[in-house]
Amino acid sequence: MKRIFQTLVLGLALLLLFMGYKTLTFTSQQIQVGTVDLVPVEDQVIDRFAQALTIKTISPENESDFDSLAFFQFNDYLKTSFPLADSLLEKKSFKHFSHLYQWKGSDPSLNPVILMAHLDVVPVIEENLPDWKQPPFEGKIVNDTLWGRGTIDDKIGVIGLLEATEALLSSGFQPKRTLYLSFGHDEEIGGLRGAKVIVEHLKAQGIAAQFVLDEGGTISQNIIPGIEKDVALIGIAEKGYVSLELSVKKEGGHSSMPEKESAIDILSTAIVQLKNNPFPAKLAGPIEGFIENIGPEMSGINKFIFANRWLFESIITGVYEKTGSGNALVRTTTAPTLFNAGIKDNVIPQNAKATVNFRIMPGESSSRVLARVQDLVNDPRIQISKGRMQSEPSQVSSTNSKGFNTLRKTVAEVYPDALVAPFLVIGGTDAKHFEPIANDIYRFSPMIINPANIKSFHGLNERIAVKDFKRAVQFYHQLIKNSTLE
Ligand SMILES: [Zn+2]
Repeated sequence: MKRIFQTLVLGLALLLLFMGYKTLTFTSQQIQVGTVDLVPVEDQVIDRFAQALTIKTISPENESDFDSLAFFQFNDYLKTSFPLADSLLEKKSFKHFSHLYQWKGSDPSLNPVILMAHLDVVPVIEENLPDWKQPPFEGKIVNDTLWGRGTIDDKIGVIGLLEATEALLSSGFQPKRTLYLSFGHDEEIGGLRGAKVIVEHLKAQGIAAQFVLDEGGTISQNIIPGIEKDVALIGIAEKGYVSLELSVKKEGGHSSMPEKESAIDILSTAIVQLKNNPFPAKLAGPIEGFIENIGPEMSGINKFIFANRWLFESIITGVYEKTGSGNALVRTTTAPTLFNAGIKDNVIPQNAKATVNFRIMPGESSSRVLARVQDLVNDPRIQISKGRMQSEPSQVSSTNSKGFNTLRKTVAEVYPDALVAPFLVIGGTDAKHFEPIANDIYRFSPMIINPANIKSFHGLNERIAVKDFKRAVQFYHQLIKNSTLE
């Protein structure tokens, strides 16, 4: 008895020792860089950005609502606002409204860098207009903040990149490595006419990019639990997307004499079954990298748990699962989004249909989602088919590549107080279209997102502080130098 007790104590002591060792050797991944002088940014930059926001380049729900005039107007705006980029760089347009600028490097043997953004925005819902503190399409500057659709998604990228390029052109800068700026005009509805077509063109030219940067991650402020510093989240992958339509046909009839099961009963049982059996949660791929970079910056018990995630994985995923946004990082999510049946209160319907939307973790696939759902539902009376829109999860890009290191360095130079960590992008971006021509694809916009403005993505009161936009221009300026000079 005594011996068993002694062995247990010894085992526990060894375990604690090992975990303490793991915590002590869980050291910072952050890099130190020297201070750099950031390029001064003039106030006209803000006026030009404000002007871009007044042009309603909206990607509408219905194709027939597409306003080509607004997009032509945006073409003119680009031409007149960025005359050097327009005249000195090679510019090619696709489907009229998507644009690719090429700045030839002096060393053609180097693979080019592609920096991208999209110039379309989502619509503003008419009935929400009274809730906007400033109008969404007037480019108003109030209290040093610029208001409007596109300030953070994603005209900040288009205008930020062009401002930086224009400034570099006027200073006589010459890149060694070729730089492409790629601006799609239909990202919000899938990017099939913009980014995808641009990539086909680049592929036909035999181009393989050193790395690609698109929107996706941001500088998160007061959002990540256990971390006080700002964190630049660099997306190294994005989740996939598939909707499954479940439908049941069964004899209906009068509700005064219902059969044991109706189409509605069968379908709701299936939906409950899916909700009760979520995809397994795990800390995989990009989230592992995130923890490796964030964990060492934590203190106390948080650091101890992150350093020993081999033992505490379920505790960590348990914490993440509690919120919708956290849950989305650890599993393929299941969300019933449409449920249709019935026409009258005393008639049992013959048809019932539901749609369930899944956001797929990297490493999984839409066909595996379908197979799992068929397995779980396990009812031949239910037809299951894939919806029209779908995309597979992206590849996971390296965090040891030249591209990632350049981004890490540039963030450290321009946002010296921020940490850097790889991340998983939950929504879709145009970046996924670039896989045929690049292995290292990153998703990051230089802007600060905090609990106060996080809901303005596709929502109300989209805005950016004037100083934050100026900083974004400085980031792109520094990034172009850092990525094209070697
Ligand atoms: Zn966007």
